[in-house]
Amino acid sequence: MADLDYSPPVADFSPSFDALFARLETSPFRRRFRLSPADRAYVREKGVDAIRSHAEDFVRGRLAPAAPRNDGKQTPMRGHPVFVAQHATACCCRGCLRKWHGIPEGVELDAAQRRYVADVLMAWIARQMEAAPPGEAAPSPAAPAPARRARARKSPGDATPGLPFLS
Ligand SMILES: [Zn+2]
Repeated sequence: MADLDYSPPVADFSPSFDALFARLETSPFRRRFRLSPADRAYVREKGVDAIRSHAEDFVRGRLAPAAPRNDGKQTPMRGHPVFVAQHATACCCRGCLRKWHGIPEGVELDAAQRRYVADVLMAWIARQMEAAPPGEAAPSPAAPAPARRARARKSPGDATPGLPFLS
């Protein structure tokens, strides 16, 4: 499979991973990954702490072993926001971790490396959540509804309720 990834083997330890994300943007393969509306709804429903814990589980089980099972094919293309983040950030398999992040293959990931990968995944997910279309998240039931909204709901021309992902 053609791999056009351009990848100086230097892990990005900046808190924001700006340099890493700029590099990933140069890859047509990496930059096509996005969280779907359903992925974003899942992140909102579960909360960031739970998603991070899923990410840590996936990293520990699927990436951290010295010889991960099905290495190169262990990360589904969709089905969980963390899987999408893994492909977007080249944290999908040990070959990509080596090429993009300078983490050697054939050696079990240590705690700092596992934390680094989880940090990268969560930073990418946070960016995706920030880039969500305005108003996508349903307003909290506790938030006072502005009078304008209350009137709009009664309008006979308002045909959008029930389609929360339409944007
Ligand atoms: Zn990979």
